[in-house]
Amino acid sequence: MRPVGIYIQVPFCQTKCTYCNFHTGVAPRAAYAPYARAVEREIRDWRAMFATAHLESAASLESAFVDTIYLGGGTPSLFDPADLARILEAVRTQFACADAGREVTLEADPETITPEKAAAWLAAGVNRISLGAQSFHDAELKAAGRLHRRADIFSAIAQLRSKGFDNITLDLIAGLPHQTAASWQDSVEEALRLRPEHISIYLFEIDEGSRLGRELLAGGTRYSAAAVPTDDAMADSYEFACERLSRTGYDHYEISNWALPGFRSRHNLKYWRREPYLGFGAGAHSFDGHWRWANAHDPAAYAAAIEQARLPVEQLEEVTPKQALNEELFLGLRQLEGIDLAPIEAQYRAQINADIGARIEELRAQGLVERSGSRVRLASARLAVSNEVFVALLD
Ligand code: SF4
Repeated sequence: MRPVGIYIQVPFCQTKCTYCNFHTGVAPRAAYAPYARAVEREIRDWRAMFATAHLESAASLESAFVDTIYLGGGTPSLFDPADLARILEAVRTQFACADAGREVTLEADPETITPEKAAAWLAAGVNRISLGAQSFHDAELKAAGRLHRRADIFSAIAQLRSKGFDNITLDLIAGLPHQTAASWQDSVEEALRLRPEHISIYLFEIDEGSRLGRELLAGGTRYSAAAVPTDDAMADSYEFACERLSRTGYDHYEISNWALPGFRSRHNLKYWRREPYLGFGAGAHSFDGHWRWANAHDPAAYAAAIEQARLPVEQLEEVTPKQALNEELFLGLRQLEGIDLAPIEAQYRAQINADIGARIEELRAQGLVERSGSRVRLASARLAVSNEVFVALLD
C-alpha cells in the first residue's frame, strides 16, 4: 500500500493580515460548524464522488494508507475542537491509517490557544502544532495586522507544553515592516530559547493583491509599505538565522525549514518529494503522482457542491513529463541534501529525451548549484536567493 498525506483546508481567519492574499476570509463564527460538517462529508463520500466523476486517477489512492494529516489554513485553531475531532475521525474511518508514527499537525495562531483547546486537540489525535509566531516584536506584529503579541507566544508554548505537546514548530518571517537587524536577531534568539522541535523561516512576500501590496504599488502610509526592509537586509537576516540555528543543533533540511533530530516535517516532505496527498476543504489541492486537482476556492461554492453530493473539484490537470521533470528539479532542490540525478536522468531521457546533465552543468558554471557525482544541491551561498536559481532551472 502506498502512503498518502491528507491536507484539510480551513479557509477562515479572524482578520486579514496586511500582506496576505490567500483564499482565506473573515467569516462569522456561525459559519465554522457548517463548513466543518461539509469537510467531514467530503471525506466520508470521496470515493463515491470520484466514482461518479470518473476521475480514474483517484483509484490509485483507494488502497493508500494515511501516515500524515495536516490541518492548515487559514486558522484551523479557531474551530471548536469537537469539529476538528469529527474531521479527524472521518479520516480514520475512511482510510487505513498508520498507527505508530502518524504525524497530525494543526496550524494555530498564538492568541487562539487555551489549555482546554490544547487538551482537546491532543485527545483528538493532533500530535504536532505549527505556531504562527512570525515575530517577537509587537510593532512588527501590529503593522502586519496580526492579532497576537509577543506575550501570547510565550503563553501559547507554555500551555501546549503543559498539556503534553512534544512536537511544536514555530514560524518566523524575515522582512516584516519595521523589522531591523537587531529586532530580527532578537526574534531568532527568543525562538531558540523556547527550543521548539522545528522552526520555519520565511522571507517576507507581499502579494500584489494584498492591502500592503497595493500600497507598495500606489503609495501610502497606512500599512507601513515604506518600512519594508530591502531584499539585501532580508538576505542578511536569513543568513544570520542559518548560522545561529545550525550552531544550536537544528538541522537545516529545506530552504525554509530546520528541525531538531527526528523532527523533520514528514507531511511537507511529501510535497518536495512529489509523493501523493489528498486535500479536503475549499481550495485544497491533491496530487496522485500523475494528476493534480483543486477544490473550489469559494467556501460557499464548495459547501454547495458537497451538499449536492457533487465532486467540488474546479481544476484538474494532467502533469506532463516535462512539468514532472521541472518539479523533480525545483521541488527536490529545495531540500538541502539535494537530488540524485541518476534515476531522474534515466527516467526522463527515456520519456522526453531531456538533456538534464547539460542544464545542470550550465547552472553549476554560474555557481547556482554544486555537483558531487550524481548528487546535485543548491549552492549554499545561493539559498537566500533560491528563487533566482529556480527561474534559471526551469525549461
Ligand atoms: S493568518 Fe495566515 S492565512 Fe490568515 S490572513 Fe494571516 S497570513 Fe493570511
